[in-house]
Amino acid sequence: MSDTVRLSRRGLLAGLAGTAALSHLTPRAIAQTKAKLVVVGGGFGGATAAKFLKHFLPNASVTLIEPNERYVACPFSNLVIGGLRTMREQTFTYDALKAAGIDVIHQTARNIDAETRTVTLAEGGGEVGYDKLILSPGVDIRWQALEGYEEPAAEIMPHAWKAGAQTRLLRRQLEAMEDGGLVIMSVPTAPFRCPPGPYERASLIAHYLKTEKPNSKLLILDAKDTFSKQRLFVAEWAARYPDHLEWRGASDFGRVVSVDPSTMTVSTDFEDFTPSVANIIPPQRAGEIAGRAGVTDQTGWCPIDPLDFSSTLQPDIHVIGDATIAAPMPKSAFSANLQAKFAAMQIARALSGLDVEPTVLANTCYSYVAPDAAISITGVYSNAEGKLTSIEGAGGLSPDGGGDRVRAAEAAQAEAWFRTVTEEAFG
Ligand code: FAD
Repeated sequence: MSDTVRLSRRGLLAGLAGTAALSHLTPRAIAQTKAKLVVVGGGFGGATAAKFLKHFLPNASVTLIEPNERYVACPFSNLVIGGLRTMREQTFTYDALKAAGIDVIHQTARNIDAETRTVTLAEGGGEVGYDKLILSPGVDIRWQALEGYEEPAAEIMPHAWKAGAQTRLLRRQLEAMEDGGLVIMSVPTAPFRCPPGPYERASLIAHYLKTEKPNSKLLILDAKDTFSKQRLFVAEWAARYPDHLEWRGASDFGRVVSVDPSTMTVSTDFEDFTPSVANIIPPQRAGEIAGRAGVTDQTGWCPIDPLDFSSTLQPDIHVIGDATIAAPMPKSAFSANLQAKFAAMQIARALSGLDVEPTVLANTCYSYVAPDAAISITGVYSNAEGKLTSIEGAGGLSPDGGGDRVRAAEAAQAEAWFRTVTEEAFG
């Protein structure tokens, strides 16, 4: 385990949620707990949860089920699309988790039976039983929720909302585009993964166009009229990319109603566009396995008890990360990381016969607006009384007109955050 997470269990627990909630949880009590703990999904939520479960409960058996041998991170993938970072820097292995004594099974979980507490693996991989399960499957695309956007369409009009091949494809398309081309980005209504992500991406694409293809332009067609950090983004765009980026909201006919990849057409209620590059960010839902486990409701997302992120629909299953209904906490890697540590801690408490108590959670989302400039938004949330509530006045935005020095300082903080969060998950 790295220096970042080489803390005493008592220190970690206290650091996570305040001493009041943890005063009865001694390292000795939790260290003795033997249980079968299974985590499904090895992204920011799941990999962190597995690491911290093993750390809090070293005598428990911890199994992580994740099909891919390498994880490709979405945070900072917009820098790859903007030509400012390599995919290698986005890619992580599970070697450190294996070395920490976690049993990593590279398989897809095909089904979860909450009654018998078993996970069935795909391709005749057998079954894995559990006492407690943490599910962190991320998001899946709602294919055809946007007319014409079925799975094959993503090979022509990439979403790049799951990092990897899609990220490379969008980057290649931008590189191949002739100077003078139109790039369109379509943004769905909330909720979706990473609320400020489209606008960070737009900034970095606009930066690329301005520097490499100055006769080209990016048009954002948005299904909403308001978005995260809007005031700051709009001011940055006006200052940096007045000729290379235009945003149209829903009330300005910005909502894309259909696409036709065969003719490269993107349509709103008002107009048809035929861009050179179309980045379609489609509507999303919780990863499919959540539905099979019976932890999704009619929205396609997973209701949870914010006191411990346990599913309100099935016993002994905790859901964390993008798959949850945790608003006003956003669907971010920052949230997934904190929810993972928090759920692991509450499971350790429960297995030690201790009650869960309310605490305070937080999120910060950084967004690059240029290679060395970033802005941020922070939220702080109470999980008392069965709901997550923003604590007014506790969070905030980067200052307006912060100037180059402040924006550069936030870019450095963003980099430090990425290093820490990936180290906690995969280091
Ligand atoms: P994921 O990280 O997606 O992990 C889910 C894992 O579950 C995957 O590895 C998948 O293979 C696995 N899985 C799915 N189904 C199964 C199954 N049946 N069996 C086994 N395994 C399964 N967040 C930030 O905080 N800061 C940022 O700057 C930021 N930038 C972003 C930029 C972009 C372009 C995008 C798209 C997102 C960004 N995010 C950012 C959001 C962040 O990527 C997600 O919020 C985060 O990855 C959520 O973690 P998760 O564990 O819920 O899901």
